[in-house]
Amino acid sequence: MQLAELSKDPQTALLVIDMQPDFYSKGALPVKGGEEIVEKISLWAHRFQTLVFTQDFHPEGHMSFASSYTGKKAFEILTYDELEAGEIQSPLIQREALLSVLQKLPQKSQVLWPDHCVAGTAGAEIDKRLPLERAALILRKGMRSLVDSYSAFYENDGSSTGLGALLRDRGIKRVVPCGLAGDYCVYWSAKDAIREGFELIFDESATRFVNFPEKSRERALEDLKVRGAKLVSI
Ligand SMILES: [Zn+2]
Repeated sequence: MQLAELSKDPQTALLVIDMQPDFYSKGALPVKGGEEIVEKISLWAHRFQTLVFTQDFHPEGHMSFASSYTGKKAFEILTYDELEAGEIQSPLIQREALLSVLQKLPQKSQVLWPDHCVAGTAGAEIDKRLPLERAALILRKGMRSLVDSYSAFYENDGSSTGLGALLRDRGIKRVVPCGLAGDYCVYWSAKDAIREGFELIFDESATRFVNFPEKSRERALEDLKVRGAKLVSI
């Protein structure tokens, strides 16, 4: 698939996910080689007519931070059952409210991360080498303390961000996601773009993967393929 052809189509939107220093190799939540894709995405972002950026943007003490819990480390999983049984406590987060959110999540659990993309910090800024001035929309996600948001379309508890309606109202039929990370926010956004009825074009050279848990890259790519995404090299 040719970049020239794809980018000049007014019905195609480029969705640039979470290109923030906290997700680069030396960031708070490092994605290996995250910074290597800036150049390619910048080239694309200068050409597509409709451009949407997302920005992971959390308050301090967010429910996705391992530091919000006693007895939990980053890259561990918080389950509904252990919180319900009182095995894990959070001095910061109201237990009943968190339980009701966890109940709605896939597998009733949440991966815990190092503190990252805290609102107002340098690590949360979108990379300034990207043409933010061309963006139709900069969508912040994960701003509610109790809910994480991997997808640009739906928060993890199922609430809509409104992005699907916005793209549809602008006549968009096709979405090209890129950015970080391929097995989390890019994957979830891609999956939800398909669910919203958009054609999905995915080039994995414009993303990098966390690869946690093991094989999460392979699982994400396989799942997107099954759902009808076109895996291409642009
Ligand atoms: Zn986050």
